[in-house]
Amino acid sequence: MSLKLSTKQLISIANEFGTPVYVYHAEKIEEQFKKLKEAFKNSNSKFFYACKALTNINILKWMKQIGASLDCVSINEVMLGLRAGFEPKDILFTPNCVDFEEIEAGKNLGVNLNIDNISILEQFGNRYAHSYPVCIRLNPHIMAGGNYKISTGHVDSKFGISIHQLRHIERIVKTTNLNVTGLHMHTGSEIKDVNVFIEGLEVMFEIARHFQNLEFIDLGSGFKVPYQHDDPETDVNQLGAKVAEAFAAYEKETGRKLQIWFEPGKYLVSEAGYFVVKANVVKQTTATVFAGVNSGFNHLIRPMFYEAFHRIENITNPKGAERIYTVVGNICETDTFAWDRKLNEVREGDFLVFFNAGAYGFEMSSNFNSRLKPAEVLVKDGEPKLIRKPDVFEDLLRNQIEVL
Ligand SMILES: *Cc1c(COP(=O)(O)O)cnc(C)c1O
Repeated sequence: MSLKLSTKQLISIANEFGTPVYVYHAEKIEEQFKKLKEAFKNSNSKFFYACKALTNINILKWMKQIGASLDCVSINEVMLGLRAGFEPKDILFTPNCVDFEEIEAGKNLGVNLNIDNISILEQFGNRYAHSYPVCIRLNPHIMAGGNYKISTGHVDSKFGISIHQLRHIERIVKTTNLNVTGLHMHTGSEIKDVNVFIEGLEVMFEIARHFQNLEFIDLGSGFKVPYQHDDPETDVNQLGAKVAEAFAAYEKETGRKLQIWFEPGKYLVSEAGYFVVKANVVKQTTATVFAGVNSGFNHLIRPMFYEAFHRIENITNPKGAERIYTVVGNICETDTFAWDRKLNEVREGDFLVFFNAGAYGFEMSSNFNSRLKPAEVLVKDGEPKLIRKPDVFEDLLRNQIEVL
């Protein structure tokens, strides 16, 4: 089963709250979370929602209610998590390229710290020694089917500490008496081959031998979700079975009981999100037919930024004859959402919906072209509720200081 909002609901929300509008489906998020819990029921697992995907405070509160923990990449996300009611022990702070003060701020708030830089590790050890536990973010340089080689966690990545620097890490841990309780890796996004995680796990098990106080191994995220009808999704059941098996074997061999952590972002919220826009103009040129909508990459940047594919449907003319369109936004720069896409005939005023809009949609929006950010609506128990007002003109001037 896969929960969805109906076209009727989406049209009614677009009429009530206006367009463009982001719509999130609470029960779909819960469904995804339950799938993970079920898949890993034979492991001692903990799931930290990687909230950079979508941080509306209501989404954070909902994650807390359904039993998720929280992964944060900035101190502000940590503070949002605390505001949403998460206990510090259920927050993991995984920043990259921040200064030592930001790490210390995380420590002062009592959250789990994930350190991904040798120099920070050393400073932390010098200052806090054994008094505050840390997790170390590693770059495992994984290659499918192989040993400690390069591919997914590519060698040029700015993230993590290379596993080839293990001796250096060990020296710091020993000389500063650091308390290392976790090892972490996060190698990328859209990983559909579960063996990548298992290989990562084997690398982590190997490295775990060097740390006596270890309590957990964190395999990060990168679970793939389907973007098109026939798209595969990471097989979490298969992964869950393999992880349980690997942990059981490890425990048998070493007598150590470790917890497994994951940090799903996209997996929890991508499919729960819809972005509804209105077709402003249909423009026939010599080469193509453009459907120009009342939005742009300032609201949904993934197609322009990552060449991401978002399925689009014309929800107000579902029986219209299918035609090929290039769907574009109103930003004064190349602003294409979709090339040569088959849609039911688009008429000016029709509502188009973008699917998979929950992750990295609103979150990456901006006011480019002095356009206003859209509203966000949460549907729970069939009831749509406004959870963010759309920007108004004054928001554009907020924080500006007129000195002329
Ligand atoms: C972005 C990120 C995630 C989430 O990745 P998804 O592909 O959205 O699941 C998890 N962990 C860390 C450290 C991240 O930076």
